[in-house]
Amino acid sequence: MEENKIEMRWNPLLEEWVLISAKRSTRPWQSAEACPFCPGNEETQGDWVVLTLKNKYPALSTEAPEVKDESKLYKRARSYGYSLVVVETRNHEGDLCTLSNEEMNLYISALVEQTKKICNDKKIKYVYPFRNKGKDVGVSIIHPHSQIYALPIIPRRIERELDSSKKYFSKYKRCLICDIIEEERRGPRVVFENKNFLAYLPFFAQWPLEVHLTPKRHFQRITELTEEETLDLGEALRNITGGYSRLYEGREISYVMAMHQAPCRGDYDYYHFHIEFYPRNRERDRIKFLAGIEIGGGTYTNDSDPELKAKEIKEAIERFVSSNKK
Ligand SMILES: [Zn+2]
Ligand SMILES: [Zn+2]
Ligand SMILES: [Zn+2]
Repeated sequence: MEENKIEMRWNPLLEEWVLISAKRSTRPWQSAEACPFCPGNEETQGDWVVLTLKNKYPALSTEAPEVKDESKLYKRARSYGYSLVVVETRNHEGDLCTLSNEEMNLYISALVEQTKKICNDKKIKYVYPFRNKGKDVGVSIIHPHSQIYALPIIPRRIERELDSSKKYFSKYKRCLICDIIEEERRGPRVVFENKNFLAYLPFFAQWPLEVHLTPKRHFQRITELTEEETLDLGEALRNITGGYSRLYEGREISYVMAMHQAPCRGDYDYYHFHIEFYPRNRERDRIKFLAGIEIGGGTYTNDSDPELKAKEIKEAIERFVSSNKK
């Protein structure tokens, strides 16, 4: 009957949505099958540099069925939305740090264009681009790609950031993230900086190798990047991921990259676009697992010295940059 159940369910205890998507359980798992993103497949024919595709195993879909609540307590909502894949290159292997300048620019443009386009759909509240890299975050296809989820709700983590930014603004008449970058740029945790972007391991990092990448100019959405900022963003994305690749030579670092922008519509002047990287490693051969305190308690332990880790990442980025120049 309902083979591929797809719907959102409200968790009244945590006041957040869960995306139910039964079809995703059938998706291939690091199979030896031919790569679906390499050029020449049914969906990847023709001449392209960066390609946007629909996710075959969506958690959100414009064809998701209507749903009905069965009780006052348990609410459902339609999983209306878009799940897209952005294939970043024709090459089967690599990372953001191995993209050509052209690929990087087209990659950022694809995220910008999709955000613009999808936000025209009045049923969509939020466009969330992210990237999962490496086997330790469970990536099933290694071909370099990012994903875009467009949701009919604002994801919980973003909602919390919007709330805290709003509170901070009403108290100090200043942007919270502008103040964070002011504080960080004077301190010991900057890992990379160019004219328009600052990358740092934040004071409050939950992950040992966490890095936040923030534009110095105050704006809310990826769609507001200027041409010069787009180039600087590309350089920063390349150098951060390049730094991770050089941090523990010969050891792949798995990470999640999350782009946090304001919702499609509404007045969010107090919010500040930024990108967060959460690598899984804490040492060369040690993975940080989320366990009792994080999963069950919701509080993170960071078993590292943030200032020392920032220095290690900064030096790895410098090694990457100088080897890349040669
Ligand atoms: Zn491939
Ligand atoms: Zn700001
Ligand atoms: Zn954020």
